Amino acid sequence: MASPFQQLQKILKHEAQDGYRNRIVIGGMGRFADHWYRQARAALQGEDPELLLALEAIYADLRRYEAADPEERRRLIEGLEARIQEALQRERHLRSGRSAAPTPPEPVGRPQPSPPSPRPAAPPEPPALRKPEAEPPEKPRARPAPPVSPRRAAQVESLGLEAPVHVIHGLGRERAQRLGRLGVQTIRDLLYLLPRRYVDFRALKPIHRLRVGEEVTVIGEVMDIGSKQTGNGLTVIKALITDGSGVVECTWFNQPYLLDRIKPGAFIVVSGRVDEFLGRPVFRSPEWEPADRELLHTARIVPIYPLTEGLTQRFMRSLMKRVVDYWAERVEDPLPAWIREAYGFPDLPAALRQVHFPDDWEPLEKARRRLAFDEVFYLQIGLLEARRRWRSAPGRALAFDEALLERAIEALPFTLTNAQRRALSQILEDLRSGVPMNRLLQGEVGSGKTVVAALAAYAVFLAGAQSAIMAPTEILAEQHHRNLLALAEGWAAAGLPTPTIRLLTAGVTGVERAQIYAELAEGSCQLVVGTHALIQEEVAFRDLAFVVIDEQQRFGVLQRAALRGKGYNPHVLVMTATPIPRTLALTLYGDLDLSVLDEMPPGRRPVLTRWLMPEERERAYAFIRRQVAQGHQAYIICPLVEGSDKIEARAAVEEYERLQREVFPDLRLGLIHGRMKSEEKEAVMNAFARGEIQVLVATPVVEVGVDVPNATVILIEGADRFGLAQLHQFRGRVGRSTHPSYCLLLAESPSEAAIERLRAIETIYDGFQLAQKDLEMRGPGDFLGTRQSGFPELRLADLTDLRLLELAREAAERLAERDPELQAPEHRRLAEAVTRFWQGPVEPS
Ligand code: ADP
Ligand code: MG
Repeated sequence: MASPFQQLQKILKHEAQDGYRNRIVIGGMGRFADHWYRQARAALQGEDPELLLALEAIYADLRRYEAADPEERRRLIEGLEARIQEALQRERHLRSGRSAAPTPPEPVGRPQPSPPSPRPAAPPEPPALRKPEAEPPEKPRARPAPPVSPRRAAQVESLGLEAPVHVIHGLGRERAQRLGRLGVQTIRDLLYLLPRRYVDFRALKPIHRLRVGEEVTVIGEVMDIGSKQTGNGLTVIKALITDGSGVVECTWFNQPYLLDRIKPGAFIVVSGRVDEFLGRPVFRSPEWEPADRELLHTARIVPIYPLTEGLTQRFMRSLMKRVVDYWAERVEDPLPAWIREAYGFPDLPAALRQVHFPDDWEPLEKARRRLAFDEVFYLQIGLLEARRRWRSAPGRALAFDEALLERAIEALPFTLTNAQRRALSQILEDLRSGVPMNRLLQGEVGSGKTVVAALAAYAVFLAGAQSAIMAPTEILAEQHHRNLLALAEGWAAAGLPTPTIRLLTAGVTGVERAQIYAELAEGSCQLVVGTHALIQEEVAFRDLAFVVIDEQQRFGVLQRAALRGKGYNPHVLVMTATPIPRTLALTLYGDLDLSVLDEMPPGRRPVLTRWLMPEERERAYAFIRRQVAQGHQAYIICPLVEGSDKIEARAAVEEYERLQREVFPDLRLGLIHGRMKSEEKEAVMNAFARGEIQVLVATPVVEVGVDVPNATVILIEGADRFGLAQLHQFRGRVGRSTHPSYCLLLAESPSEAAIERLRAIETIYDGFQLAQKDLEMRGPGDFLGTRQSGFPELRLADLTDLRLLELAREAAERLAERDPELQAPEHRRLAEAVTRFWQGPVEPS
């Protein structure tokens, strides 16, 4: 039977060749992960703990695969490949250890205990795999000589840490390329290639006290060393070590060169897990090194680096040691001393030394924290800088008739919540101020953000200027348009002046479009709603003073800045329904001012959420039927279909036809999907909003923002395929009135991760709590979708570490007070570091 690791390796290889589309295994990688994990666990029963750890780590990564975007998937697979390599190496050691067990010249005549072998012995591997590991002859590491080849000295002199790694003496082009696969191009990258974990080999023991299973170090003299061939052609090196208290046997497999390195009479240090052979302690493939040198692989906290094919831990450690010894102290610390002192951080050279070769756990922890702080600190400096730049541009100071606005508020069909009042007055303050607004309006689904934006736009209209509201989809733009028209009708009925409101999407063409362009250019249209093509196209406004971006969680700092670059200089309000944990708000929106709608309109009840078994689908249909009988409406969300939206649309059409024909022949069903023309979509949404359609079958396009208060039930098919944030968004489509509302989830065969999500959505109703859970489950990278938003990558910082983020924010604010432009000589290196951080690493292609 092939090793589970080899099996996985093959699948990942295909997956990579297929372009990370999650199509290689039926049912997706998530399900495969669970299956593989169960099988592998069974196969590895009672195995070496190292392998079990590897298994857990691999499983954890596999489970993240499905939710990851293609770029992250690529990285995941690369990381997995390295892990698998390690596991396979380990397996080979163990396996050769077993098959070799009968050969050592142990007391003859007694039956050999059969080695614990939970699975059938592996078939002999092809000889190619048996090649003795080619370990390069290690150079004596006596003095930390500059690890740079003399020919390259000049290059290094001028480039410093930016010098490419191949300048390192003795590294060679091939190994440099291998390091490249770990993302390492320069010496700086190498210094920041941090250990994945550490093994503590500090426990020194006399040989007669060794106990099986413990990780220890012994120092002793080599009594004897020799090699044997096993039956199947393996070389076994066996050495006997004594420290006066006893003798212990060490074996290594497939490393014949050890005979030249370990000589009888030499003192060596051996670290490893104590194993057992015939009741006596032995070391199998332990770490070792001569006792007369600075110890690197033994008797200390030993770093374990990420590897890729052709690189060994031993090689990496030796390389790192040379590099750290020489370069760490040459790294200039960008962190000003006053910040280091204020927060008690070690300086950068010390942090780098400790993080690679820690003296103890505590300095290691301090070092990691310091390095993580650097990242979030640079991040916050950049965000504050963006904020300052934004605010330093000349802004419009809008003056409008407050009494008229107050009357417009009174003319609304409902009373504003306190939270809406507060947010509105913060926004109006910005509009009046003359400093460009850059504000985030954050509020739970259904908290009533739209009306706040509409009132602000009304104020802008009263001030004689124009506003634009951008929505992420045509459906949403159309809905906003409808709602704004309804509001305007109310204002007109109350005798108030009303703006001319237009819709501009890709669906609006020809004469109509030309007409709207003209109205915007001459200023006779004061409020335009559209998709964000609105701002990118050649739309000229007479006097655009206010831009609202709705439901855009993926609109990053850089895009918001780019918006500026389009030649407008308006006040900007970003609205998001995704509740963002505070740590992420600080990170993702750290350059924005924040208004929060933390209060729902009165009378809302939580949407009762149930995860149903597939057998209960009929009950779900019956439930929908009863709700419709009471005059309410329902959504049925079709499963996410991998592939194209064409396939997805086709699946939705089939589902719609099936439901109409077989399940709800007597009800009025409607269908909406991404491939429909915008007039068609608009017609369907209008019919649903008017109650003419009773059950709306939809692809996941309704995800954000659609508002039909009379809808009280949403049934989500394939709920296991959606993320928590998405499920919460769907759920937010109902519960928009005082009627009790329901969210029903169907999932055919959810993975463990999906089960966790379904349980979470069933029990947690609060968006912020759910977001926190989501962040924990998925990790910040996925949660942020950082790559799309042009956000710098965080390698060390844990974005759930609120305390660290707040420290960094505070430090960045203190810094901005002292030296906002980072012009002081003492901040020169800091300015460079911030620039480097925001430029991001150069991806190896
Ligand atoms: P979201 O914040 O998700 O965008 P919407 O703006 O779509 O929420 O508002 C949800 C629903 O609540 C809409 O039907 C809206 O008319 C209604 N609404 C908004 N504010 C209030 C309020 N203060 N009282 C009652 N209903 C409100
Ligand atoms: Mg909305």
